[in-house]
Amino acid sequence: MKFYVLDLGYEKLDKSALVAGCTNAKTYNPEPKAIWQKIPIQAYLIEHPEGYILFDTGCDPEFKTSWPAFIEEDSPYYVTEEQLLLNRLAQLNVKPEDIKYVVISHLHVDHAGGLKNFKNATVYVNNEEFTTTVCNYVKGEDLNVHVPCDIEAFIQAKLKWRTVMPEEKELELVPGVTLLNFGSGHSWGMLGMKVELENTGNLLCVADSVYMKDNLYPSIKIPGIIYDSVGYVRTAKFILDYIEKNNCKLLYGHDIEQFDTLTKSQDGFYD
Ligand SMILES: [Zn+2]
Repeated sequence: MKFYVLDLGYEKLDKSALVAGCTNAKTYNPEPKAIWQKIPIQAYLIEHPEGYILFDTGCDPEFKTSWPAFIEEDSPYYVTEEQLLLNRLAQLNVKPEDIKYVVISHLHVDHAGGLKNFKNATVYVNNEEFTTTVCNYVKGEDLNVHVPCDIEAFIQAKLKWRTVMPEEKELELVPGVTLLNFGSGHSWGMLGMKVELENTGNLLCVADSVYMKDNLYPSIKIPGIIYDSVGYVRTAKFILDYIEKNNCKLLYGHDIEQFDTLTKSQDGFYD
């Protein structure tokens, strides 16, 4: 089994969206400056004897025209041609129709933008995340960073969905790859994935259930962007316990410091 880290460009946003209160005023610093933080946009590709598995799908390549205007103001996205998801896959000689499973951590704009391309795949998504996204879209309710262009595109693509139900806490996808259903927290329903690699050891991909190291250490800190703060803390505690019990290296969702240390798909893979 090979595990590839796909570098899909980056966004910039106020760090308080990632770690709430990180630039709060203090007596010794009454007028702190906001931090304009760079965050990686990433996805993972697994080459497994049973087929290719893709974890997350990055942003819509047409984002300049398809996204609501507030995203460009709050968290602009920067990407080169070679960093677009389908080009990253092509660099590894993988076509969209070769992907057997897509695991989508949640349906936010920086994770679900490429879903429409994977018509042959079975798409694993948290049931609550899926139903709430589609329901709110149909009712015309505010979707924030679940964007209409992604939802319309994946409906039109007639994807094969496999929604993960609340009672399915751990689900073996294929030998060595296990989905974890974290429930609500960062969004309505979050999935993670454990990958057991022979030489590298176990990896735990949690996406935005933990944005970055600052959200866990030295203590759990909630992000500014959050749906369910209680669920978020419950998940963070679960993850801390899980990585210890299962001897996993944790891959954060948007930690640029960690991301810079990882081997990217253009340079190699983990196995
Ligand atoms: Zn994200």
